[in-house]
Amino acid sequence: MTPLAFALVAALANVAGGLAVTQSARRGLKVIEGFVAFGAGYMLAVAFAEVLPEEFAAGGSQAAIFVLLGYLLVHLSQHTLTPHFHFGEETHRVSHSAGVSALIGLLLHTFFDGVAIASGFAVSTELGLLLFIAIFLHKLPEGVTISSIQIAGGTAPMRALGSAALLGAATVIGVLATDYVGFLAEHGLALSAGVTIYVGASNLVPEFQGKPGWRLPTVFFLGSGVFFLTRELVDRIV
Ligand SMILES: [Zn+2]
Ligand SMILES: [Zn+2]
Repeated sequence: MTPLAFALVAALANVAGGLAVTQSARRGLKVIEGFVAFGAGYMLAVAFAEVLPEEFAAGGSQAAIFVLLGYLLVHLSQHTLTPHFHFGEETHRVSHSAGVSALIGLLLHTFFDGVAIASGFAVSTELGLLLFIAIFLHKLPEGVTISSIQIAGGTAPMRALGSAALLGAATVIGVLATDYVGFLAEHGLALSAGVTIYVGASNLVPEFQGKPGWRLPTVFFLGSGVFFLTRELVDRIV
């Protein structure tokens, strides 16, 4: 039950991100921009310092292939089959089909957010919690991304919010599928490590690497540092 409850919380964060867009909550959106940078640092730290060592110890060099596959799959679904997609708030007009294909692309990624939570908890409560935090942190920007690209493509606000809810539902389904699909139970963690690295390094980092100033880079480095703090904390409380 626990992984499912965490997936539900993550799903609600998708909806909250969507609400910030549909309610035009400027201050909320500014805070969520910080989550992009912080989440990127945190996700990369979880993937490199926690998930990869775990995977290579359990699955050996074969696990590396699944990590690569996870990375490539996100590129295929979000950037190859998709005419226009980037993380963060969509601020210019896009075609209606861009909004639809962004949703399809993001559904695969958010499904693997759920797979990551379930396979993390299958290894240990500690890993499950750390992966949940990593996923929670980018769920708000995810909700912003999908709702804003859909509105920019001419979709009505309520439907755009519904798309954010669909992303959350895909995460919940990812948790359930990991329990029932043997392939995911076996390789889900390695695949989702590749997905996590893609989202951190290739979705989130590009969103702020071109922006001037120290604010976002500082938050990014802080995100990586805070991972090690939470790991200490989680080790003590679990
Ligand atoms: Zn755009
Ligand atoms: Zn995600």
